[in-house]
Amino acid sequence: MRVVRCCVVGAPIRHSRSPFIHRLFAEQFGLALRYDKREVGPGALAGVVAELIGDGLRGINVTIPLKEEAWALATRRSPRAAAAGAANVLSFEPDAAIEADNTDGLGLVRDLAHHGVTLAGRRVLLLGAGGAARGIVPALLEAGVARLFIANRTPDKAAALAAAFATPGRVKTLALAARCPEPVDLVINSTSAGLTSAAPPPVPAGALGAGTACHDLVYGSGETPFLRWAREQGVKLRIDGLGMLVEQAAAAFARWHGLEPATLPVIEALRRRL
Ligand code: NDP
Repeated sequence: MRVVRCCVVGAPIRHSRSPFIHRLFAEQFGLALRYDKREVGPGALAGVVAELIGDGLRGINVTIPLKEEAWALATRRSPRAAAAGAANVLSFEPDAAIEADNTDGLGLVRDLAHHGVTLAGRRVLLLGAGGAARGIVPALLEAGVARLFIANRTPDKAAALAAAFATPGRVKTLALAARCPEPVDLVINSTSAGLTSAAPPPVPAGALGAGTACHDLVYGSGETPFLRWAREQGVKLRIDGLGMLVEQAAAAFARWHGLEPATLPVIEALRRRL
């Protein structure tokens, strides 16, 4: 049986859950898949990609800190990758193209749907303006959010992100220390604050209303600092980033193998393993 090969690259990569997730997806279809992980630091991606193409890989997932580098390396980009300016998926195509995709935003939207969160007509506050935020913003706009506030520790980066998706009236920037002009339906934490410290990122005052939900891209074995903060504020619907992780992987898997895996059993299996 022909073995299909894929890989995840980034740094640090030791704790990546991608091999586990893709193995469970492959088992659903009896697909012979070898999925490795490889530590690759900034500036080294081009050489590694050439090597992996030579080895016959179908594609790679790309994580911190290589998403912009992967995007620049691509010879073709999906519309959502083109919009994001960052790629978490590279596919090595038969016509020798290196095609970039960004499935982070789709992963988030699909995971929110699992929790009954719809986005059309909603007001959303996005904390952070890094690589993940770049993938999320076009997906939120495509899903029809009415108003998107972006707040980031470095205000210039929030302004640049908002400008990249210039949709007058829909996208506004906000200082973390400012007051949110209106309560929102959803607050998304796309900062890495909860990864690097036990403190949640600051959240603009006035953002929470009676039915506000909170989503944290960060996940772990316990409650994340942001979701702990949300619970303390009385937020009822609190969602961590595990489902998004599995959903963005499922979109990459479908892209490479033409197969749509069931995600809920994989999310449950991953949660049991954390
Ligand atoms: P980047 O390094 O590109 O961006 C980090 C962001 O966090 C920046 O906006 C940065 O602000 C902000 N930040 C960092 N520390 C703090 C702090 N102490 N207080 C306030 N803001 C802070 O990372 P990514 O965007 O790629 O990833 C962000 C997070 O999302 C990571 O935790 C990552 O693991 C997670 N992630 C989860 C996914 C999932 O599927 N669940 C998918 C992708 C990412 P500044 O601009 O000022 O530096």
